[in-house]
Amino acid sequence: MRLILLGPPGAGKGTQAARLRDGYGICQLSTGDMLRAAVAAGTPIGLKAKDIMERGDLVPDEVVVGIISERIDQPDCANGFILDGFPRTVAQAEALDRLLLEKGLALEAVIELSVDEAILIERIEKRARESADGPRADDNADALRKRVEVYRAQTEPLIAYYEELGLLRRVDGMADIDTVWSEIVDVLGSAPGRQTAAGGRA
Ligand code: ADP
Repeated sequence: MRLILLGPPGAGKGTQAARLRDGYGICQLSTGDMLRAAVAAGTPIGLKAKDIMERGDLVPDEVVVGIISERIDQPDCANGFILDGFPRTVAQAEALDRLLLEKGLALEAVIELSVDEAILIERIEKRARESADGPRADDNADALRKRVEVYRAQTEPLIAYYEELGLLRRVDGMADIDTVWSEIVDVLGSAPGRQTAAGGRA
């Protein structure tokens, strides 16, 4: 199963992506997490991404496309993947289309978590206050505003992009975590834990 999770910052993509990974035995590719790991490890990509991420801007398309392209080929993704935080621009979506075409792979669905913006800003501020490791460098008011702005300008157009391809499935992201999860399972139309394809879970 090959999926994309789409939605603004704080929509709960990371939480649902982890459930999809565990439930369907696919790999979770969260570009935000991968970039934060690169920053923490001080790799060349991390050094490039650090300041950009802290102000809430997007790192260059070729950087994230490169990261994703490499990861998709790893054995743990043989059964499929869930992309969380990627693609974030139309250029990234087009690059992903080309990449999948080259690899002979196809997307099954793009799940949009729709949320109320005022409430999601509250959620992120709460996450920043409650985080055990201290707030993320970009969970402050300025960077947050920027992230929401960038989402609207650059990422939201992907909803129409995938709608046109017949791949978009909309889920109400305002419900509680379990309800959002069961709605996702519903729109996918296949129960978790029942994959029997090679490498899958019987
Ligand atoms: P959010 O909760 O804002 O969606 P993420 O963890 O997905 O946070 O991403 C954090 C930051 O990492 C982004 O603001 C951006 O700087 C960078 N980033 C993550 N994914 C991408 C991407 N696909 N393209 C460009 N930048 C990205």
